[in-house]
Order: sequence, then C-alpha cells, then structure tokens
Amino acid sequence: MGQKDGFLQYNRELPQSRPPQERIKDFKEIYDEFPEKKTNEQAARCMDCGVPFCHNGCPLGNVIPEFNDAVYREQWEEAIQILSSTNNFPEFTGRICPAPCEASCVLGINKPPVAIEHIEKTIVEKAYELGYITPHVPKSRTGKKVAVIGSGPAGLAAAAQLNKAGHWVTVYERENRIGGLLRYGIPDFKLEKWVIDRRLEIMKAEGIKFEVNANVGITIPAEEINENYDAVVICAGSTLPRDLPIPGRELDGVHFAMDFLTQQNKEVAGDELCDKKISAKDKDVLVIGGGDTGSDCIGTSHRQGARSVTQIELLSKPFPNRTENDPWPLWPMTLRTSSSHEEGGQRQWAILTKEFIGNSQGQLEKARLIDIEWSIDNNGKQGFKEVPGSEREVPCQLALLAIGFLAPENKLLTAFGINTDPRGNADTKDYQTNVGHIFAAGDARRGQSLVVWAISEGREAAIAVDKYLMGESRLPSKDDSFLNVMSY
Ligand code: FAD
Repeated sequence: MGQKDGFLQYNRELPQSRPPQERIKDFKEIYDEFPEKKTNEQAARCMDCGVPFCHNGCPLGNVIPEFNDAVYREQWEEAIQILSSTNNFPEFTGRICPAPCEASCVLGINKPPVAIEHIEKTIVEKAYELGYITPHVPKSRTGKKVAVIGSGPAGLAAAAQLNKAGHWVTVYERENRIGGLLRYGIPDFKLEKWVIDRRLEIMKAEGIKFEVNANVGITIPAEEINENYDAVVICAGSTLPRDLPIPGRELDGVHFAMDFLTQQNKEVAGDELCDKKISAKDKDVLVIGGGDTGSDCIGTSHRQGARSVTQIELLSKPFPNRTENDPWPLWPMTLRTSSSHEEGGQRQWAILTKEFIGNSQGQLEKARLIDIEWSIDNNGKQGFKEVPGSEREVPCQLALLAIGFLAPENKLLTAFGINTDPRGNADTKDYQTNVGHIFAAGDARRGQSLVVWAISEGREAAIAVDKYLMGESRLPSKDDSFLNVMSY
C-alpha cells in the first residue's frame, strides 16, 4: 500500500452536497467538485489489511485495495484498468451503489471505512477526462448472434461482455430509451442521464446494436427472436409492483411510485407524457414504503413543490448502529438517511395504512393510519398487532405506493416457455433456463435487487452463454477477478 499510516493521518471525507433548499429547485446531481489531492488522501486510508473483506463484499469482486493504491500513486490509467476488469459501468455504481464494499472494509471495524464508492467515481470520471475509455472493437467475430431483452444494467453488462467475446449482440428495449431503471426509475438528481448516453456511445462504436420501442413477446414475437438468434438473455427486470388492496385504492391520487418517478424522468429528458401528469405540487404527499424507491419519491415530490411529504414504513425504526444480529462485515441493517431525507419531510415507522378516503368526485383526500407493535412468538415468527386508540386520519391528496416489486411480467416468460420459481422469477441453473438457448440475469432472475448485482449477473450470464455457444469461455468471472488483475 502507498502510505502505510494513511488511515491514521486522514479522516474519511466526501464531497459536499449543494444545500438542500438550493438543490430541490432542480433535478441535477447534488454533489460539488472534490479536489483530486483529497481523493488521493482518501485512497491512502486503505490499509495493508491482509485480507481485504471489501473485495468479497462487492458483488462484482472489485479489486479495491489495488485500485486504491493506484489512485494514491496517481496512476489513473492503471486504476481504470483494474476497475474495469471487474465492472463495466463504474460511472453508475460510483454514483448510486449503497456500497456493500464499504460495509465490509476492515478499517470500518473501529473507524469510518475507506470512501471506496467516491474513489470509484473519481477513477472513472478521470479516465473519461484523460481519454482512457475508448471503444474496443473485438479483433474477430464468432458469427454467433445473441439477443438481449431489456436494457437495464444487467442487459447492458451482458451485452458488453458477449460483444467482447466476439458475438454479434442486439439489445431489445420496449421503452423509447435505453437504460432500464437507470433511465426511468432512478431520478436525475442521483444519476444524470448523460452518464448513460456517454457509455452507450462507446458500446455502439464497439458494435452492439440497440432496438428501442421493441416489446418482445408483444410487438416482436418470441418466435422471431428464436429464429434469428443463437442465444437469448432475458434481462427484463422485476417490474410487477406490489399493490396495497385496501378500501379506496381506486381513488384518483393513489399511484404506484414507478408511475410517478418514470413520468418525472421522462419530463426531465424532454419526452412527451402519454398519461395525465401525476403531480405533487401543492399536495400533502404520503409515501408508503421506507426503502430506496420511497426515498426517491420524497426527493421528487420536494422538487415538484409538495406542501408536505410524509414517508411511512410498516417495520419498526431500525437501530442507529450495528447490533449482534448484523456484526461487521455483514451488511448493517441500520437506519439510513438518504440525500432526499435531508431535503425535508417526515419519516414514521411501524404504521399500517387501513384506508384511502376520497371526496364525492373520487379524489383522494385523506388516509386512515394506525400504529402497530411488532413482536416475535414462541416459534420465532414475527407478527404485529394494532395499537388500540392510535387510529387517525391524515390529509393526503397524493399517495405513492413504494412497497416493492413482485416478479418480472409473466407474458414475456410465457412467450418463451420459461419456467418460473415459486416467486415468479425466471428459474435458472447457472443462468440457463429450461429452454436451452435462453438465459436470464438481473432482477428478472434474482428478484428486485441492486445495480451492482444486476451488472454482476449480466457478466456471469455472459460467461454461461459464451460457454453454451463456443464450448468454453475466456470471459473473466468474478471468482478469479483478483488473479486477472495480478496478470497485468
Ligand atoms: P431493469 O433495470 O429493471 O431493466 C429491465 C429493462 O427491461 C427495462 O428497461 C424494461 O423496460 C425492459 N423490458 C421489460 N420487458 C421487456 C420486453 N418484453 N421487451 C423489451 N424490453 C423489456 N439500485 C441501486 O443499486 N442503487 C439505487 O440507488 C437504486 N435506486 C432505485 C430506485 C428505484 C426507484 C428503483 C425501482 C430501483 C432502484 N434500484 C437501485 C434497484 C436497481 O435499479 C435494479 O436492481 C436494477 O436496475 C435491475 O437491473 P435489471 O437490468 O435487472 O432490470
């Protein structure tokens, strides 16, 4: 490691964000510039810890101590080579990953962990600036054709890797733009969309084709895909939202979070909206669901000019620190405060929504809520009971359901004759479905998850497809990511 005592010399430091009241006036990313010297110091905090748990904590197997060392020595070309040996899109994960690597950083045992995610973003942005990220067209082509269905991070990673292996790849996307939830779920204030476009230009120059407005199984029959391609990778995401079937669900003003977020992203992109706009302006907004999607609804509601924003969650308030149930290096199940939470609104836990109440025109006016108490029975099963006398009505003219996703849409899987697991996800063995030439990756296979997992699955599925087509694969697997770096 570059500086042996760096972790003693420097404290963890991250870029400042713009003041909340200023940044909610626009949809731009929120972080200020950070001097390069400070990033070198942050990289110097990486210890010579011997067994880098961060490497294992990352679903991609990112070789973190090695790129930290290169950043400390200001060797940006070496740093991007190490980083891109395991991650096709560090510009996405460097912005929006919850960073499981940092949760398992050895320094994190008794000090704030190394700022790995920030270092990752800096490496990739510096590499673009210095011209180190350029298209790499494969030297030879295998003549095999692969269709990737769905253009989220899983589909893009699978496409990039399969193209690298020399196959001709076409990505099909039913939306009018490429990117999946990166494009139409995650708000611009977390990930500006030029970041996706910049990467797409590289991928197109490398020979990957993209077909938009192509709804496979609906506007493009599965038979056509089967006839024209040697293999197919389904990366269609987990898009069926969980509903809340309580009285009043049909009222005007109760919406799925994704309908709200997608519209806003489309508006920022300058797209025309097909449906009536769901707006938070001058409304009391109730966000139901305490996760990331709910948090994105809060940030978007504030930017649209909501009168008030309240987020409610069924589960109890998490602890501020790790407990004996989630010791280091496990992912901490602690209270998280996102940048959207910093911008205002209220958060409440252990609350059940009983009913939506509307006026005579069918418009939402109020929600009826009740407090609940969680307990564990003698068999270890968790359950809750309502707290008598805690029932109340709260004003709300917009309610956003952000309570998760169930599975991929069944029509696509049925069109290809693919078996599903008990949760409705594509059932696979080593990413291969029951239909030999069809593979699946990302949220469509593992259920709703994270961008970093989607990229990891896309890369691993590409290896399985390559082996199926060629009998063997030289594409790198996350299991030997460390060895690949050592061979530079
Ligand atoms: P997706 O990104 O869902 O992409 C699937 C694509 O397939 C979509 O574009 C869809 O239109 C397309 N498709 C579906 N059916 C068809 C068809 N029949 N024909 C053609 N195309 C089709 N994760 C993080 O790590 N950090 C975050 O900050 C974060 N924030 C999130 C915020 C929100 C609001 C949501 C909903 C999720 C968030 N996630 C986040 C999770 C993350 O976005 C997903 O885990 C990830 O995008 C899954 O990638 P994927 O490629 O499997 O699927």
